[in-house]
Amino acid sequence: MTVLVTGGAGYIGSHMVLALTDRGETVVVLDNLVTGFDWLVSPSAELVRGDIADGDLVAGLIERHGIDAIVHFAGSIVVPESVADPLGYYRNNTSKTRDLIESAVKGGVKNFIFSSTAATYGVTGAEPVTEDRPLLPISPYGRSKLMSEMMLEDAAFAHDFSYAALRYFNVAGADPGGRSGQSTRGATHLIKVAVEAALGKREGVEIFGTDYPTSDGTAIRDYIHVTDLAAAHLKALDHLRGGGKSIVANVGYGRGLSVREVLDTVREVSAVAFPVRESPRRAGDPPSIVADSSKARAELGWTPQLDDLPTIVEHALAWERHLMRRNA
Ligand code: UDP
Repeated sequence: MTVLVTGGAGYIGSHMVLALTDRGETVVVLDNLVTGFDWLVSPSAELVRGDIADGDLVAGLIERHGIDAIVHFAGSIVVPESVADPLGYYRNNTSKTRDLIESAVKGGVKNFIFSSTAATYGVTGAEPVTEDRPLLPISPYGRSKLMSEMMLEDAAFAHDFSYAALRYFNVAGADPGGRSGQSTRGATHLIKVAVEAALGKREGVEIFGTDYPTSDGTAIRDYIHVTDLAAAHLKALDHLRGGGKSIVANVGYGRGLSVREVLDTVREVSAVAFPVRESPRRAGDPPSIVADSSKARAELGWTPQLDDLPTIVEHALAWERHLMRRNA
């Protein structure tokens, strides 16, 4: 049994590779290395550079390695970029996922785990969102992922194939052992941007929108440690391998934090009062989104271990320092 991890040289994918290899699984990573880095891939896994939509390549990997599960992370992840380049997002996230699902079905791979997103919900209000809420994404990113969920549902109905679509909330932090972390240059995600500012890699942080209908006017998100997210994928893999039914589940902590609260925590943990500037809202951003993760806890047996913002920030800072030494 070998697990194929697409996008395994990226941020979340590389943590999943660590989680798998730490428990002794055999792992093949397929990554085009456009946004990923070969040095993020655990030396215990085999890295293949290529495209997930290359049917011959994927068929060969499935056959040669006896792949029994695909964990699919490869894709584009920046909401405002998707607003500017929707067709690029539909190509990378939707069409290529279609091709990968087809390769899985043709190759007899019965277990498929998909990186979905809270962005499939759109505007929800402050209360935790359950999986049965209407799916009304407000960005091409959210739509591109929702279409992939729909394809999986239809493929699982038609073929001998099961899937888990995990809807991630805001993923942050880094491997507690310092083996991987968010390494993208020109990153846009809040905690990454803030730790860069704390370490003097940027001038400061802009708050996008201070007029949201929230407690302090800034947007609310549910920030989850990347290692807890990887652990949820292991649980989903065990669920599917054990004959469990296809499942769509939120993965977040169920705790909403405002942009200001996050920035205050990064200032406290880093002990650096980097400048913060108020700016207009950013396109495609909902005011508030928080997970109800009771389904993942009950049906997958997932229990978060690192549900603490200062810990998430500490690990993100440690990784950022590592990157600075590495690139020095
Ligand atoms: N945000 C911000 N300044 C930044 C980056 C993000 O104010 O430099 C806000 C963003 O507008 C959103 C929240 O932080 O309300 C989380 O954004 P992020 O890009 O981290 O994740 P998203 O929720 O878009 O997936």
